[in-house]
Amino acid sequence: MPRKFDESKRQRTRRNTPFDEKYERITESGCWIWTAGTTSGYGEHGGKLAHRVSYERAKGKLPPGMFACHTCDVRCCVNPDHLYAGTVKDNSKDAVERKRHAFGERAGGNKLTIEQVKQIIESPLSGRQIAIKFGVTRSLASAIRRGERWKLALEIAS
Ligand SMILES: [Zn+2]
Repeated sequence: MPRKFDESKRQRTRRNTPFDEKYERITESGCWIWTAGTTSGYGEHGGKLAHRVSYERAKGKLPPGMFACHTCDVRCCVNPDHLYAGTVKDNSKDAVERKRHAFGERAGGNKLTIEQVKQIIESPLSGRQIAIKFGVTRSLASAIRRGERWKLALEIAS
């Protein structure tokens, strides 16, 4: 019987706890289960998505607009062998399949849809033009483009 991660083991970690002390390897599945804080099931490390951090540590920086996607479908898994770089199209396709394509984050009173996030990432417009068009701050627009705004990214990354 496969060993499962015991949720009660999830640790409270300090801000500076090293990445490698924040997951537990589940040998049967090969998953590295994040034991520190999570949001919406995804591990969080220093305000970033833990699986994205893990991917970039092992395989190099993700290009703009690319996301670290799971082959194992375990959101809190940070094993780089279970991660691949996918486009926002791959991710939104997955998201639609999972019927979680509607979401929003409050950004200056506005909620962005996944379609708008895609448009922002793919838009040839400048950050300033995007800020005006979508009613978001320039810093949020550029963070979305870099894939660094994890609260948004986690809804379309998996
Ligand atoms: Zn995994």
